[in-house]
Amino acid sequence: MRKVSIFGATGSIGQSTIDLIAREPDGFDVVALSGGRNIARLAEDAIRLKADLAVTAHEELLGDLQDALSGSGVQAAAGELALMEAAERPADWVMSAIVGAAGLKPGLRAVEHGATLALANKESLVTAGSLLMETAKTHGATVLPVDSEHSAVFQALVGEEMEAVERIIITASGGAFRNWPLEKLAEATVEQASQHPNWDMGQRITIDSASMFNKALEVIETREYFGINPEMIEVLVHPESLVHALVRFRDGALMAHLGVSDMRHAIGYALNWPERADLPVDRLDLAQIGQLNFSAPDIVRYPALRLARDVMTRGGLSGAVFNAAKEIALDAFIARRVKFTAMTVVVDKVLSALESDLGLIDAEMTLDNVAAADHMARIRATEFIAAGL
Ligand code: NDP
Repeated sequence: MRKVSIFGATGSIGQSTIDLIAREPDGFDVVALSGGRNIARLAEDAIRLKADLAVTAHEELLGDLQDALSGSGVQAAAGELALMEAAERPADWVMSAIVGAAGLKPGLRAVEHGATLALANKESLVTAGSLLMETAKTHGATVLPVDSEHSAVFQALVGEEMEAVERIIITASGGAFRNWPLEKLAEATVEQASQHPNWDMGQRITIDSASMFNKALEVIETREYFGINPEMIEVLVHPESLVHALVRFRDGALMAHLGVSDMRHAIGYALNWPERADLPVDRLDLAQIGQLNFSAPDIVRYPALRLARDVMTRGGLSGAVFNAAKEIALDAFIARRVKFTAMTVVVDKVLSALESDLGLIDAEMTLDNVAAADHMARIRATEFIAAGL
């Protein structure tokens, strides 16, 4: 039986992972599940999957978790230290599906202990890509992409040499507002931004899809994971979200990965890698679909894509600054303190303000320095928002 742990088990990716694991009760031994505020879901799944340990990120919820697990034999724990302890428990395969920068440390700790890390938490690569990948290399651990675009590229590259790659093209649906008049975008509400045209995902990533911050993170993620030149990465708007990514090779061949909008494909691929297994996802019927559409992204509509290019050009710890400023801007939008279009303004201002702080941005990529850059970006973003931008 393979030992598995799931961080962010109560979220959208975590639940899809549990769905796959629960279908094979004799295949997996669940070591740890982590969640945040959804104690009922965490406890129910931990009991159902007979996990050794359930951890909530919030110390004040320990009592609730203990009550919910009472008599089940599942151990309860809470707080950041408990999360790290859970990540140290021997596991063959670990799903990293906490949302935001909080996902970095447990994932990093898991690869330090040699686990295969299925990485949904794109923020880990954006904030500390080289640290994560080098740590994995040092400890002989494998990092497998779970983001659908990166899983698609990974699959298109099986048996290929990176030297033969000319371009990696990741697709974007265009999000909830792809057809909105530009002048209306500032008035977009949280509810409207939380409706994705094709995917059913957590609220934060859904809003990030509408603003294209999600694709901006993914462009940086592509660079960090595949180690390629930023100029070789392209974004293509594809409203149907059926082609997830394409790889163009030096001989002109273009390999596309297609599939339905169901994250259980990418999760299942990482779970069964290097083999393929039957997965409970719908099959694409291209004859029924009939046509697929593509267009270049409109940089005026999606300024986050330009910011991603700036981050890759600047390098250093600017990815940590970018992500942290984006998280604060997103919090402020969800709390209705800034308009939808102000999120990119906040991030742009924070990047500009901190760009010349060489001690911060060009510091060695260690966990402490990433945390310092993240912290400073949050402070500056909060200041800009409080000052009305
Ligand atoms: P959700 O918001 O649905 O779930 C997030 C998970 O993280 C929940 O388990 C939540 O707990 C937990 N969590 C939230 N805050 C913290 C914290 N500070 N510390 C520890 N745990 C926390 O997110 P998604 O599943 O949508 O996304 C997870 C990650 O996967 C993100 O990085 C996202 O970008 C990436 N991803 C998601 C895709 C999708 O289809 N959803 C596709 C590709 C990538 P609780 O809910 O109990 O509070």
